[in-house]
Amino acid sequence: MAKRLAKGKCQLCLQQAPFKNTNGEPYLETHHIVWLSKGGDDTCDNTVALCPNCHKKMHIVNNEEDIEILKERCKELLDHYSV
Ligand SMILES: [Zn+2]
Ligand SMILES: [Zn+2]
Repeated sequence: MAKRLAKGKCQLCLQQAPFKNTNGEPYLETHHIVWLSKGGDDTCDNTVALCPNCHKKMHIVNNEEDIEILKERCKELLDHYSV
């Protein structure tokens, strides 16, 4: 879901996916903004598509500012596509 909405762009750095998978689809990883291990939901408003770099970053640093950015982008995408 998040991957489709993101149109092949990382939702943190907004760069195109660094490479494509064997199906020719941009490779992005699904990330849960609130980690499942911390009680987050497996719903579209808690998932974002990230490039491998940003995904690593979120798991190592999990910066508050980045989290806020992701929440905002997530909301924008959902608002945009739910009409
Ligand atoms: Zn990125
Ligand atoms: Zn993740």
